Amino acid sequence: MTTENAGPVPFRQAAWGTAALADRLRKLVGPTHVLVDADLIAPYETDWTGRFIGMAACVVRPGSTDEVAAVVRACHDAGLPMTVQGGNTGLVGGAAPASGSVLISLTRLIGREPVDVIEAQVTVGAGLTLEALQRHASAAGLHFGVDLAARSAATVGGLVATNAGGVNVLRFGSMRQQVTGLEAVLADGTVISRLGGLAKDNTGYDLPQLLIGSEGTLAIITRVRVRLVPQLPARAVALVALPGTGAALELVAAARALPGLTAAELFYPAGLELVREYAQLSAPFTAPAGAYLLLECAGPVDDLLGLLEASETLLLEISGMFWSLLAACLGLEAGGVSGQGTLYFAVSGLILASSIVESSYSLAYRDELTSLHSRRAFNDAISGMKHPYAVAAVDIDHFKSINDTYGHDTGDQVLRLVASRLASVTGGGNAYRVGGEEFTILFPGRNSEEVFQHLELLRMNIESCSFRLRRGEDRRKNPREGERRVAGRGQTTKRANSGALSVTVSIGIAESRPRAAIERVIELADKALYNAKQSGRNRIEVASRERKGRTTQNSTPTS
Ligand SMILES: Cc1cc2nc3c(=O)[nH]c(=O)nc-3n(C[C@H](O)[C@H](O)[C@H](O)COP(=O)(O)OP(=O)(O)OC[C@H]3O[C@@H](n4cnc5c(N)ncnc54)[C@H](O)[C@@H]3O)c2cc1C
Repeated sequence: MTTENAGPVPFRQAAWGTAALADRLRKLVGPTHVLVDADLIAPYETDWTGRFIGMAACVVRPGSTDEVAAVVRACHDAGLPMTVQGGNTGLVGGAAPASGSVLISLTRLIGREPVDVIEAQVTVGAGLTLEALQRHASAAGLHFGVDLAARSAATVGGLVATNAGGVNVLRFGSMRQQVTGLEAVLADGTVISRLGGLAKDNTGYDLPQLLIGSEGTLAIITRVRVRLVPQLPARAVALVALPGTGAALELVAAARALPGLTAAELFYPAGLELVREYAQLSAPFTAPAGAYLLLECAGPVDDLLGLLEASETLLLEISGMFWSLLAACLGLEAGGVSGQGTLYFAVSGLILASSIVESSYSLAYRDELTSLHSRRAFNDAISGMKHPYAVAAVDIDHFKSINDTYGHDTGDQVLRLVASRLASVTGGGNAYRVGGEEFTILFPGRNSEEVFQHLELLRMNIESCSFRLRRGEDRRKNPREGERRVAGRGQTTKRANSGALSVTVSIGIAESRPRAAIERVIELADKALYNAKQSGRNRIEVASRERKGRTTQNSTPTS
């Protein structure tokens, strides 16, 4: 098979009959899922590029792992070769059926288990499309780290079989880094399964890792368990024009220092012209360049200015080039002088004007100390909130004691660190700093029950971190004095060991009701928070649906 653009590549015609096998397969998977008609088979025989055309004896579409195993056994008994196919987007003809083989299409294996938000993992059928997996993860407030342009057709099984990388490979790695378990059918119909997803499972051979990238040669993957990552809603994209590949590679190497770098894509003038012509776009720069680099950064909170600051330092460092945000946004040419000649910069793509406007808006509404959105932003957000939504009131336990014991610098450090954890809350929540050590998290479209496990994860996350004090921030004269003073109020905030401070939070949750005033929901969340504190802190209390203010569900600290 050739990969050159030399027209269709025909496969050898099948030399044996398949009627008896087709009958057996119909009994196994149902008559509508065995295709023998040439017109019906044709789309399965031609790959996405149209350059590779195979020849299938028939197409069979099993609907479960058991059916896949039965189909494989039938083919095994008949001595017929098999070709496995997912979304048929592989681009290199790997899923085009060779020499009259039985084409096993897995597009009916689209089962989805509920997302395990504690483990941040999910198990899905091999035939589920990447797009459907992404939607499933995002509905649970999480994100799947692999993305590529064929997302609407490429299947999870195909992604695993080809160890696909995609556009965010720099940040999250390829499929090999996402897979935590697999189920597969071997060539004789044996089913192997390792779907536990336990991160520290070190028993026996790591069969999933062996099957990743095996392209259907070792087994048919039927189910996959993958890890998920926190959502990164804040995004900035820069398009940089450079003199050539060397300069682009230099920039990529340096760009790895950018906060939250998720993607770096290199392209050339011919590619740019093709896209411009197709989409009828104007030139992004006033002068042509030798190469273009698209960089994307993403993070849990909108920190565009921090990003630009880092970018500016980076670009000045690497080649003395001049990065001017304003000039770029206004489409002006920023000609920098470097050893490599005149370079041109612009910020485009998602950053464009809209991001800048959003960013200026968030500056005005952002809490300077923690970078979280401020009370003003909270007031705006909640006033536009429509039922259903949930509100979580969060307080740092014994914060006054921390301030009194270790001083305000340490207090600020604690606030920033807790805020950074709150910013990465899962479940679609947005965190706000609404007072000194008081925070609120808004969950649009959710009820108390739905957000509880996300908040419990957050509470445990904060509890499990011991924050390291910077030098000179422990103001106590007697090393044991502060420990007594802080721990004296309870067990939850303590100096764990020299230089480390454990911090916990208490949380109260309330949910909206169809006609209840927003103020009432906030009041209920505050009341639930008060109850959480009264019950010993480092816990979550939920305002009752039935009897206002009464708590019905709570979490208890792990220590
Ligand atoms: C527009 C476009 C953009 C792309 N971008 C990228 C990219 O950025 N990065 C990248 O890595 N790839 C990219 N690809 C190619 C990518 O590898 C495939 O899109 C995807 O991984 C294949 O999935 P699929 O379900 O279509 O598999 P298929 O094309 O159906 O199969 C691919 C191979 O895997 C085998 N296979 C399929 N399913 C199974 C299974 N369940 N068990 C065992 N073997 C199986 C097949 O036999 C075949 O050998 C792109 C493709 C397109 C069309």
